[in-house]
Amino acid sequence: MAFTLDDLPVFPHMPLPDGDTPQFVAARIIDAFDRNGVSGVFALANSWPLDVDPKHALILDDWIAAGHHIGNHTHTHPLLNETSAEDFNHDISIADDLLAPWISKAPLRAFRHPLEQWGNTEEKRVAVNAHIDRLAYQSVGVTSWFYEWEWDRAWRHLLQTGRTEEAERLKAEFSQDSNSCSCKSRVLVGQLLHVSKHRLNTSVPLIAGRLAASFVAAFLSVFVGHAFLSEGFDFISHEVFTDEPAC
Ligand SMILES: [Zn+2]
Repeated sequence: MAFTLDDLPVFPHMPLPDGDTPQFVAARIIDAFDRNGVSGVFALANSWPLDVDPKHALILDDWIAAGHHIGNHTHTHPLLNETSAEDFNHDISIADDLLAPWISKAPLRAFRHPLEQWGNTEEKRVAVNAHIDRLAYQSVGVTSWFYEWEWDRAWRHLLQTGRTEEAERLKAEFSQDSNSCSCKSRVLVGQLLHVSKHRLNTSVPLIAGRLAASFVAAFLSVFVGHAFLSEGFDFISHEVFTDEPAC
């Protein structure tokens, strides 16, 4: 399984809990991967935060210094189904320019469509794919989401109303409760792994996508260690990336 992370250095869609900073979130995510021996994680980055505050560049520096990689996830995170191909391609090019110092250090030039929207018309898909090819990017899809954004708001609310015990319980539930979306996804990929190894005598490559969000930073170490390493997943970097939608 390859782990990937979207929306470094700042997840734009949900505010951080009081006192949290994008630097703190990134540091916790880096630490979680480090403690579990997972390296070479591609973070698909947006470049708009570099316009807002050049200090966000330090997060990308830290990410690479920790043994991970940066890819292009557009400048402003437009959704292709709601944007013209021309505007979308322009946005990719801005990110290509601003993120060049970090992308150039990666073993491959990775691009991920925001929200996995590859285009709602054939015309758009062709025009955007041609632009991605021109810039020599490989598109990277996702096979497994974990829906953590559904939980982030509840977790933030608990923290900000001083209910830290309940916040801790929510975190544990997300990683271990068999009824959580996360756990159902994990059980499903675990079964797939088992069937592929023992019945088909092969292994199925998976690409997991997570977000650079506060809730993710809080539970990632437990999640990676208990939920995946203990079930026999091998973590790899970009070897399973394909140029097609992954699911
Ligand atoms: Zn994204």
